[in-house]
Amino acid sequence: MSMLQVSGLTKSFGGFTAVDNVSFSVEEGQILGLLGPNGSGKSTTFNCIAGMLKPTAGSVKLAGEEIGGLSADATCRKGIGRTFQIPRPFRELTLLENAMLAAHFGSDGHLSHDEAEAIARDALTLAQLPTDANAVVGGLGAAGLKKLELARAIATRPKLLLADESLGGLDGGEMRQAADMLKRIRDERGITIVWVEHIMGVLLSVVDRVLVLDHGAVIFEGTPREAQQDEKVAEVYLGP
Ligand code: ADP
Ligand code: MG
Repeated sequence: MSMLQVSGLTKSFGGFTAVDNVSFSVEEGQILGLLGPNGSGKSTTFNCIAGMLKPTAGSVKLAGEEIGGLSADATCRKGIGRTFQIPRPFRELTLLENAMLAAHFGSDGHLSHDEAEAIARDALTLAQLPTDANAVVGGLGAAGLKKLELARAIATRPKLLLADESLGGLDGGEMRQAADMLKRIRDERGITIVWVEHIMGVLLSVVDRVLVLDHGAVIFEGTPREAQQDEKVAEVYLGP
């Protein structure tokens, strides 16, 4: 069974269709790269899957269960974790507190303080961030903030992770590290991942399959190798 099955997903804002009849599925334990230029509808697709936006039409199934139209917290408790393109940590809280809040957000409300702390430390460790109680958000650079986004998403204990532009603002070495981290999250935890980027770069060396959006519609689906050889994909990325 597919971990995620999106069918005919459409999202309109007034008369403008940002996501246009998009269908795809992701098998359990796979990493799907969701590519497309700026404004092609990637984040809107995420927001519809993760309950931040109500789809105008279409269906979203997680492990066979319809979840389209559920709220963001209901979706999170069902097992969808997400990161945001613009990191939004609680800056006045420590790293550990940020991850603990996420652990509570992803649970059904019965986590003890110690359980939440254990989950939070594990998520911070997986994201290669310090777990000591004094580590604060203030000292983090762009790469650290992206790691914290991942740690917070992992602390909700997702079956499916939606990672939005994990490479934005990173230099070459940091991009490689971020790509390796997503691969480790899948390899070590078996978490299924949909990874959005507007650039192809290192993403192609990590993902199992690639979906490319343009103007809200799917223009390509296939393997990373096929994506590199596809004319429509080249046109979107390089111009005709
Ligand atoms: P991407 O993540 O691929 O860069 P988005 O999904 O953020 O693209 O946006 C797709 C299109 O939808 C853009 O043209 C954007 O301006 C528009 N859009 C996104 N959110 C809204 C909104 N809340 N209201 C109106 N238009 C929106
Ligand atoms: Mg976006």
